[in-house]
Amino acid sequence: SYRKGGYHAVRIGDPFSGGRYIAQRKLGWGQFSTVWLAFDTLSSVHTPLSLSLSVSFNLIRDRTTFHIQSIPKFSTNYVALKIQKSAQQFAQAALHEIEFLSAAADGDLQNTKCVVRLIDHFKHAGPNGQHLCMVLEFLGDSLLRLIRYNRYKGLKLDRVREICRCILTGLDYLHRELGMIHSDLKPENILLVSTIDPGKDPVRSGLTPLLEKPEGNANGGGGSSTMNLIEKKLKRRAKRAVAKISERRVSMVGGALGEEASSKSERSLDGIDMRCKVVDFGNACWADKQFAEEIQTRQYRAPEVILKSGYSFSVDMWSFGCTAFELVTGDMLFAPKEGNGYGEDEDHLALMMELLGKMPRKIAIGGARSKDYFDRHGDLKRIRRLKYWPLDRLLVDKYKLPEGEAKEFAEFLSPVLEFAPEKRPTAQQCLEHPWMNVVSTQNDADNVESQVRNLKIKG
Ligand code: ADP
Ligand code: MG
Repeated sequence: SYRKGGYHAVRIGDPFSGGRYIAQRKLGWGQFSTVWLAFDTLSSVHTPLSLSLSVSFNLIRDRTTFHIQSIPKFSTNYVALKIQKSAQQFAQAALHEIEFLSAAADGDLQNTKCVVRLIDHFKHAGPNGQHLCMVLEFLGDSLLRLIRYNRYKGLKLDRVREICRCILTGLDYLHRELGMIHSDLKPENILLVSTIDPGKDPVRSGLTPLLEKPEGNANGGGGSSTMNLIEKKLKRRAKRAVAKISERRVSMVGGALGEEASSKSERSLDGIDMRCKVVDFGNACWADKQFAEEIQTRQYRAPEVILKSGYSFSVDMWSFGCTAFELVTGDMLFAPKEGNGYGEDEDHLALMMELLGKMPRKIAIGGARSKDYFDRHGDLKRIRRLKYWPLDRLLVDKYKLPEGEAKEFAEFLSPVLEFAPEKRPTAQQCLEHPWMNVVSTQNDADNVESQVRNLKIKG
């Protein structure tokens, strides 16, 4: 797909947007784009040197105004450059994504709402055509990689809670403040943010010389010739950094999951405060202006989308529920497959009912596609015998969670997986749920349990 209308081929060191961004290393790719780590030469030039020890400033441009945004240093030096394929339909999709990312950035000046930040966007002409490029804040590995890194064994509940808090904060913002539905929430589209202090991190502090005080420039302002000098110097350094930068360093800057670390035990995650952000707004829509009937990635798709009964914000809550389960267990909640005499959709509905009980008849028969899967009693047409295995039992029997933990987590998750979309809690309500606000750690709970046991034995 590196041909006319397709991906833009990038070589390390390639300049973008008049030399502002220098490509460093490929971070990932999607159907429509490749994503590159890039060095932003301008962000450091514009850093007032007197302030560079604590914060730096970065210009966030949208169509009409400039916002000045203070964000921690280092994160300003490196950005993620998403380069869209050039054909008309991909350009259209990029413009769509830019619309939603801009709206999200405009409403979140403090950059605290757990949504990836759009820093800049521009067009880049290459041999395969004009490519729309998005400059995003540089984030770490995805939750999918975190799950893999943990060898699909699931994460500790306290860690899941931290991650869920970020996802819910992001969703609450998108839903309540912006009226936006993400429509493709899944572990792959949630990226980790590093909270390691770069000053204390030897791997990352290798980047500090880039902020060194340039000669003959006392206050960081300086005339244009000084600026040129700084710029040249920065570009030279950026090129040298290319050679030095390693997979490990990149992973440290973003998340914490270098290839090297993945051979080690789960314990290497200890002490890392997990935070994350929602990314990939390529499928987002406004609740009052929807574009597509079929949304969401299969395994995270809500029942009302399969049945074509109309949808709203609560489809994201369904996907959130599927994601939270996957974080706890390492397994996808629903992995439907086509079978003998039935399709993927019907299997999906069967899996849902095996976990959550029979779908209320009114909901089952209420969608435009209902007749394809359900008879008039609300029973599946082709899959007759369902094996009911409720969530709390599944968590105990299959995933070996302690009874108490399983019960509490199931109490949190079950309402999110309500068949009736309007009965699902909002992101805001989830944030207020007791499970999200557990103070005592599992150790304390274990202690309490063993104390109770001891008392019983003594008694
Ligand atoms: P697509 O819309 O084509 O799926 P995404 O926006 O999901 O593209 O990006 C594709 C991949 O690029 C992601 O899965 C991730 O690995 C990487 N990526 C995207 N945005 C960032 C970012 N801000 N920081 C770091 N990596 C990113
Ligand atoms: Mg994606």
